[in-house]
Amino acid sequence: LDPRLVSARASALGGQLTLLIIRDVTEQERLDQVRRDFVANTSHELKTPVGAVSLLAEAIESAADDPAQVRIFASRISAEAARLGQLTGRIMSLSRLQAADGITDFDTVAIDEVIASSIEGHTVQADSAGVGLARGGDRGAYVRGDAQILIEAVGNLIANAIVYSPKGSRVGVGVKVDAATVEIAVSDQGIGIADADRDRIFERFYRADEARSRRTGGTGLGLSIVKHATQRHGGEVRVWSRPGRGSTFTIVLPRLDVPVPETARKIKKT
Ligand code: ADP
Repeated sequence: LDPRLVSARASALGGQLTLLIIRDVTEQERLDQVRRDFVANTSHELKTPVGAVSLLAEAIESAADDPAQVRIFASRISAEAARLGQLTGRIMSLSRLQAADGITDFDTVAIDEVIASSIEGHTVQADSAGVGLARGGDRGAYVRGDAQILIEAVGNLIANAIVYSPKGSRVGVGVKVDAATVEIAVSDQGIGIADADRDRIFERFYRADEARSRRTGGTGLGLSIVKHATQRHGGEVRVWSRPGRGSTFTIVLPRLDVPVPETARKIKKT
């Protein structure tokens, strides 16, 4: 054994180790920064409705002898409370998705049921926006996952598609099943997304059009939830968009090959 070779190997290993440690520290710093930004953004987002509620409560106190005014302020308090509820709900979804636990709850999930529930949950929103909502494509696919998380993810895409679409347009939810994957595509004929925003819309609290998103009740968290939910299932989200033409968001999941039960096979044969 050549001692020079041993020492050269040892120093190369040492170099690799130092590099690994540096990489680890940098990653840790990045994660810390992400966490600090999240806390700062969350506090900022929560402050607005909380501030509005306390101002409106003061206004009610001083307008106590004017029932019409009181009713207006009270309904605005309800709206702000609803927004607070939506925000905290989304923040909780996101932190649950980012936590390390939960994977053990995975089960066999029928994509048809996920699509049916997500559409059903948004028919009222579609109707009141005057947007048509329809399902198309393949049926009968299964994935391994958490049905509630998938329903929330597809639901967020449908909600966005409706919000960013003009009255009279259509939103389609299509499924494409391949040997190894299931694709769920939500397409709209809405305002579309500029190239510069396309890579950033999945970031927490990022909105391509801040004012519009707030006006329409957006939190800037919907797509972040979609991304984390999909990653949790070993999948990915793709986006196609043309400003003024529309957008298509596609969730791609690994397909679960569910064997046809023995009894079903027997019935089929006869
Ligand atoms: P928000 O609650 O603001 O909709 P999201 O995280 O769901 O937050 O989306 C981030 C941003 O991406 C939105 O503010 C909007 O600018 C843009 N966006 C998302 N979906 C669509 C869509 N279907 N059409 C056009 N823009 C979209």
